[in-house]
Amino acid sequence: MTPALPKPTSTLPDTRIYERRESTVRSYARAMPRQFARAEGVWMHDNRGGRYLDFLSGCSTLNYGHNHPVLKQALLDYIAADGIAHGLDLHTDAKADFLETLEALILKPRGLDYRAMFTGPTGTNAVEAAIKLARKVTGRELVIAFTNGFHGMTLGALACTGNASKRAGAGVPLSHVAHEPYDGYHGPDVDTAELLERRLADPSSGLDAPAAILVEIVQGEGGLNAASPEWLRRIAEIARRHGALLIVDDIQAGCGRTGDFFSFEGMGFTPDIVTLAKSLSGMGLPFALTLFRPELDQWSPGEHNGTFRGNNHAFVTATAALRHFWSDGAFRKDIARRGALLERRLAAIAAEQDLSTRGRGMMRGIDVGSGEVAATVTAACFARGLIIETSGAHDEIVKVLAPLVIDDAVLSAGLDILEESIRVALAASYGVAAE
Ligand SMILES: *Cc1c(COP(=O)(O)O)cnc(C)c1O
Repeated sequence: MTPALPKPTSTLPDTRIYERRESTVRSYARAMPRQFARAEGVWMHDNRGGRYLDFLSGCSTLNYGHNHPVLKQALLDYIAADGIAHGLDLHTDAKADFLETLEALILKPRGLDYRAMFTGPTGTNAVEAAIKLARKVTGRELVIAFTNGFHGMTLGALACTGNASKRAGAGVPLSHVAHEPYDGYHGPDVDTAELLERRLADPSSGLDAPAAILVEIVQGEGGLNAASPEWLRRIAEIARRHGALLIVDDIQAGCGRTGDFFSFEGMGFTPDIVTLAKSLSGMGLPFALTLFRPELDQWSPGEHNGTFRGNNHAFVTATAALRHFWSDGAFRKDIARRGALLERRLAAIAAEQDLSTRGRGMMRGIDVGSGEVAATVTAACFARGLIIETSGAHDEIVKVLAPLVIDDAVLSAGLDILEESIRVALAASYGVAAE
């Protein structure tokens, strides 16, 4: 059976209201100038009847696709019954359901004993809470983050982020963070865990004793660099030995993106603190969570707060998502199969064009050499109805973040578009170089 294909519209919408009234800070809309009206599953529809295949998924916020029918129905039922929409941090049926489901389906089966802290609703809030707690518990100031790390836009999380143009927006010094080389940063022959160990063990290295080591298992915005399990085990051991807390930022790589619910599963270590957001609500509703070992729960009531801690609508959809996708191993198997398909196809494209691939699971991309070529690739994809974005220090990685629920045939069809677009973009760039 031939899968449904994208059907982009070629005419530009009227964007005068955005130019007149929306801040110039908008970004994605510039590369994809359409007006979107509705979405379901892996498809987004513009207001002129165009249909686009979504290989961006809200930067991994829509792992279960747009408006999944089970999640949508749970939310519709809850709203119809006048369920609590906003309740500060009061006990609600929706919150109890979520915590019980998280405990039964995610924590217990994995032998994880975490307390859940509901922070403000975006990922950066979860990161702020994590580093604040680590500093409070250890009485230390320094956080060790890594090159190409991305952790959010508020000052504390921004200080942990590597990207210079994002950092420049702070307007004040970003301090109390050391950026150490991530796995592979100095090439395959330099063990950067060993470098870190040596600096921490050397009383004269200038590196203060850290409160925390903050790491992404696969760097989402930083170029889909996937740290090896051995390196990560070493980092966990270094954190333990030096009295620092290990924080895994699982905001983009978690919720199934790299194969299991958490990206660190099966790697032989347990983080002290874990941050989740993006796909946690399952339906694109804002919802962030900081998980930590019970002994670390040294907050006094209200010490860290926020008006929108615990979004009850998101509790409802998150609970439905946990029940629907994570109560047995079927979804994990689907992700593994699709991830292998994605790996195979990207490897073939890379081999043909002499490029290299990055990533793990359903979080993979292709290094096309430069941000200019990558922008040409994504523009060519969009013209063919495929929504796809870039990542990396120079935006040189074309990243595939298809919904995890994507049909294998539709995934292949989207990768056909990517393959053709890469061929066209590279031919154009060689043409320019030859002139
Ligand atoms: C997106 C992201 C964040 C920030 O989340 P926001 O919801 O944008 O504040 C933090 N860490 C990682 C790894 C992310 O991908």
